[in-house]
Amino acid sequence: MSLAISIGLQMILPFPFGLIAALAVFTVYPLFLRNRAMRRMGNIGMGGGSFGQGFKYVCLACSNRFRGAICPRCGSKMKRAEF
Ligand SMILES: [Zn+2]
Repeated sequence: MSLAISIGLQMILPFPFGLIAALAVFTVYPLFLRNRAMRRMGNIGMGGGSFGQGFKYVCLACSNRFRGAICPRCGSKMKRAEF
């Protein structure tokens, strides 16, 4: 798909511009695909509700379950993930 675009561009445009345009296609096209995939994943996360929020940490010092970087009960950063 992108290869056909790059060949087409080099036939239409004079040499240096065709090459630059082809490089631009090869650089932008994967980024575009990745952005679209990430947006789709984000939609699933928002639609699923508890999908991204069901995951908590358990404090290793006082075994308190919490969300965030630091245990709100004892202030320890020692934690493990729980799903
Ligand atoms: Zn704690």
